[in-house]
Amino acid sequence: MLMQSPVFLEHDTGQHVENAGRLAAVFHQLRDLQGWSSLEPRLAVASELELCHSASVSAVLEELTALGGGSVDADTVVSPRSLDVARLAVGGGLRLLEEVVSSRGQGFALVRPPGHHATPTRSMGFCLYSNIAIAAVYARAVLGLKRVLVLDWDVHHGNGTQDCLESHPEIGFVSFHQWPLYPGSGWYDERGQGNLFNLPLPAGCGDAEYLFALHHLVKPVLARWDPELLLVSCGYDAHEADPLGSMGISSEGFGAMAGLLAAWCPSALRVGFLEGGYHPQALGRSVEATLRAWERPQLLECPRAERLSSAFLKRVYEAEEFWKR
Ligand SMILES: [Zn+2]
Repeated sequence: MLMQSPVFLEHDTGQHVENAGRLAAVFHQLRDLQGWSSLEPRLAVASELELCHSASVSAVLEELTALGGGSVDADTVVSPRSLDVARLAVGGGLRLLEEVVSSRGQGFALVRPPGHHATPTRSMGFCLYSNIAIAAVYARAVLGLKRVLVLDWDVHHGNGTQDCLESHPEIGFVSFHQWPLYPGSGWYDERGQGNLFNLPLPAGCGDAEYLFALHHLVKPVLARWDPELLLVSCGYDAHEADPLGSMGISSEGFGAMAGLLAAWCPSALRVGFLEGGYHPQALGRSVEATLRAWERPQLLECPRAERLSSAFLKRVYEAEEFWKR
């Protein structure tokens, strides 16, 4: 099932790198996709937003909306429709999650604004509300799921998701991200209550590095956590064509990662949430590759360590030490 609607194009950021053209490119790429039905979003209510955010987050957005728009910070634009669209993105994710749980299926939320930088107390980094963290908390608090794990492969650290989930030790959060890079957090030692797993990666990592790290680090976490629900913050700005990241993943590489996660957790419900990805065509192809992989998950062998850079391997082996603690 897909959560998709033209309403998500109405968060009008003008010439900003996170603009409606990104999602329009995804819709165009998926125009002939078969086998995925679409759902209409609903507005999230205050009690749902407050599963992760203080009321002050909404108050700031309401104030800017009353002024006809503005910006929360240098990166984060609010247009007259942004608040409603952001609440539809959160509520849309929750509606999708409800449908996935009741149908024992899988889904992808093609929503914007993205969410993984929005913290409990502020919108930031193109993100207004933490779409995926709210879904993770809702899954346990309202839908009664027990074992929930969030994985974030966006090139930037999911600091907002991390901050929202830090107080929920029963929800796991794994983030792969380029480091150093915005927003600067995400070092190995940020372990929360033992539920946070950060892998800060050097620039230049591609398909082989990400697949190796998934095998070496994430597969054991999945085996231990045994998630009933796997939520994936699908940012595609680690793509080789992306203007913001300096990584080298191909569109097919994102499909390979998605397929591996699904193959390792065959009984887990899974829902992807669109995060970053700033090359519109690469973004469209990568989302399609993800959905195709989830239709027919495939196991792949682990790439050989001898072919990978020592700078990369050092980060993986260091992370492994911290993740055990
Ligand atoms: Zn990003």
